[in-house]
Amino acid sequence: MATPTLTIDLDAVTANWRALDAASGPATATAAVVKADAYGLDAARVSRALAVAGVRQYFVATAEEGAALRRVLGPGPDIMVLSGHMAGDAWAIRDLVLTPVLNSAEQLARHLEALPGAAFAIQIDTGMNRLGMEPAEWAEVAGFALEHGPVLLVSHLACADDPADPMNEGQLALFRALTDGIGVPRSLAATGGILLGPAYHFDLTRPGIGLYGAAPFGAGLPAVRLSLPVVQIRELEPGETVGYGCTWTAAIPARIATLGAGYADGIPRTLSNRATLYAGAIACPLVGRVSMDLVTVDVTHLDAVPEALDLIGPSQGVDALAEAAGTIGYEILTGLGARLSRVHLGDAG
Ligand SMILES: *Cc1c(COP(=O)(O)O)cnc(C)c1O
Repeated sequence: MATPTLTIDLDAVTANWRALDAASGPATATAAVVKADAYGLDAARVSRALAVAGVRQYFVATAEEGAALRRVLGPGPDIMVLSGHMAGDAWAIRDLVLTPVLNSAEQLARHLEALPGAAFAIQIDTGMNRLGMEPAEWAEVAGFALEHGPVLLVSHLACADDPADPMNEGQLALFRALTDGIGVPRSLAATGGILLGPAYHFDLTRPGIGLYGAAPFGAGLPAVRLSLPVVQIRELEPGETVGYGCTWTAAIPARIATLGAGYADGIPRTLSNRATLYAGAIACPLVGRVSMDLVTVDVTHLDAVPEALDLIGPSQGVDALAEAAGTIGYEILTGLGARLSRVHLGDAG
């Protein structure tokens, strides 16, 4: 079979959730962020496994993602929509019982007008300047909003992956100043915020990337393996070149394996002549350019060429690959393509 395989260890995902739940402390509930198809790992399979593990709150980016997730989870768990209540979302929010995280006075008005009495949360911007009400906007609408009983007050940290960044304490202080004493449950921490310590945990934490075994949760279990099948093997004479643009030249007689995955599958083209694949523990350099459906790998030093080589696996995690590509684990995972065969291990899902 020429299909590259992404193997997702659901037991690792649930173990990572349990570890982050324990790190969040006994007084704090721990949600799961499953936006972008659970960071590319299949939101339906991942969320079902997490539900079995005890997760009762889920965050998605859009109402469409929330609607799909409700059909998977059935009634019961809270599904919160980070983009809030956009025009056209009312039917999904009502029929599929989603909780929008309202980001502006405009969204608040839209929600209360369209669906009076329907649950909502509010996001307050404490310095990231991306989503949420500005402090002045919040001050204006807080009295009115609180009369309608928000279920959660949310903010998001800009620099939580760096514990030394003074931005963290600044955002924490502002969040407290804007919400202390209100008596509505609060949520500030994603994966990075959980690791900053108890002051950041409040009532609910919202880990995403940490569930999937990538930085900044260094103690997490790896959850994915990406194996690329060997489609063809060829011998090169010194001086022969490989791939588009002839960017790699054999210096000695070389054996090149052509593997069946490329940038259409989410392998960044910036990894041309830069990535390392693994035959078990043996490193094999990617040579030449990454093309749409194929990569080429120097396997001259292997005694035997296996049926598949790992791009992500025990010898190279998501973060190491991301570093080679000049990006972050989040982008590698969410970029993994639809053509990959996704195989889920673990009985929970
Ligand atoms: C994506 C996101 C999260 C999860 O962040 P991780 O760094 O993946 O843990 C939490 N909260 C908000 C508002 C987000 O956008």
